[in-house]
Amino acid sequence: LQANLAKLQDHLQRFRDEGVTNLIAGQAVPARSGATFDNVSPVDDSVICSVAKGGAEDIDAAARAAKDAFAEWRDFPLAERKKVLHRIADGIESRAEEIAFCECWDTGQALRFMSKAALRGAENFRFFADRAPAARDGQMLPSSTLMNVTTRVPIGPVGVITPWNTPFMLSTWKIAPALAAGCTIVHKPAEFSPVTARILAGIAHDAGLPPGVWNLVNGFGEDAGKTLTEHPDIKAIAFVGESKTGSMIMKQGADTLKRVHFELGGKNPVVVFDDADLDRALDAAIFMIYSLNGERCTSSSRLLVQSSVAEAFKAKLVERVNRIKVGHPLDPATEIGPLIHKEHLDKVTSYFDIARADGATIAAGGERTGEAGCYVKPTLFTDAKPGMRVAQEEIFGPVLTVIEFDTEAEALEIANGVDYGLTGYVWTSDLTRALRFTDKLEAGMIWVNSENVRHLPTPFGGMKASGIGRDGGDWSFEFYMEQKHIGFAT
Ligand code: NAD
Repeated sequence: LQANLAKLQDHLQRFRDEGVTNLIAGQAVPARSGATFDNVSPVDDSVICSVAKGGAEDIDAAARAAKDAFAEWRDFPLAERKKVLHRIADGIESRAEEIAFCECWDTGQALRFMSKAALRGAENFRFFADRAPAARDGQMLPSSTLMNVTTRVPIGPVGVITPWNTPFMLSTWKIAPALAAGCTIVHKPAEFSPVTARILAGIAHDAGLPPGVWNLVNGFGEDAGKTLTEHPDIKAIAFVGESKTGSMIMKQGADTLKRVHFELGGKNPVVVFDDADLDRALDAAIFMIYSLNGERCTSSSRLLVQSSVAEAFKAKLVERVNRIKVGHPLDPATEIGPLIHKEHLDKVTSYFDIARADGATIAAGGERTGEAGCYVKPTLFTDAKPGMRVAQEEIFGPVLTVIEFDTEAEALEIANGVDYGLTGYVWTSDLTRALRFTDKLEAGMIWVNSENVRHLPTPFGGMKASGIGRDGGDWSFEFYMEQKHIGFAT
């Protein structure tokens, strides 16, 4: 830990000296108003650095820069576009440690998970770099009088608005396909985790991206974020965050008819039938809620377990949850670090009283820990009923709610009985049941006898209040591009 802390100081020194600036038209600039805000670490409540507090003027400058750069990037030779995106991936890989350490300090995520996040970000760039040359490909659809040609063109400058959970990886996931499609971007990262977004924009600049293709404006959602969603030069908004923010963005973008792509919240079920491999199901259920501090949209925050095996399963669960190591995010042994910020800690811990009042049992955790910082013990609620708030609302922390069921039909009703529909996890050895159940399960992504394993060509996204649109493979290009038809008389 001491060695990692020393390295962290080296990585952060630049930001402590200069603060986190915006990047507009290739220039590192402060906010036009001169305003800044403090970036606070959830580890010990200390101020990490100051951050440019962008507002309407900065968003306007960034949107104009993105508009001015659009024709150059749209027409950039495709082979060159591919090379620039690969160079960004090279830059990420060469600074992976710096990115991981800064992300841990900024967000409280444990190093054991963040050390891979930077490399996954590089993979995202490589994946879309390789697809960039084919992004415009279309079809020939001849009729008796016309040679019909379809092709795709990039939609124009787009706004990318990202949250604070795994912010580096998520930013690459949204931005890489936008650039591969030929769009220019204005990125507004979450106000609670600005450091790695600034490192990423710097890497892109150093990789030879033309000025104005990638603009970064820091600031708050209700100010910089809102202006971005309303700006007439911004043709689409790729947003990752809470469902209620998505709803606000849809309203804000209505006057300019914004195209939107939303990756929103979840209350994802992991459904364990009594014929499952219960040891593997237990490992996966624990991993999917207690890794990444439970601050992950795809976490399995509801465990639906068949009553015939529930007692034994819960006993093992309690024992394992009590053994999870909470600690400093830069300690390699840590499994759960501090939550992102004080208000979020208050939100997560407020569910302890809600659970008790509604009649659930706190079988593990249920309290804060540590003298400073935003630490909470991993928590397990049992005896929960499907209608309880802890079984309905996204808590977004290391908190699992266990609900028991008797029949497959009951499991399906409980699983689908929430507003969300992002992911689902089903554990059974009965293949016919797995096919039947997954067909009816309301979720955009489902894994059977597996935890969440991301495969980049597959569609990523949610149903119901969990989102609109899909990312991944060619689905990303459908959002960032316009389909065009041209008919030639023959
Ligand atoms: P949030 O909605 O509070 O903020 C996300 C971003 O939106 C931030 O950059 C914020 O500044 C900005 N924002 C806030 N109000 C805005 C407004 N009126 N106009 C424009 N921008 C605005 O979300 P959060 O708390 O940062 O992130 C956690 C949420 O993100 C959880 O609900 C989680 O499930 C969700 N999430 C979903 C996915 C997915 O793929 N479905 C992935 C990660 C996170």
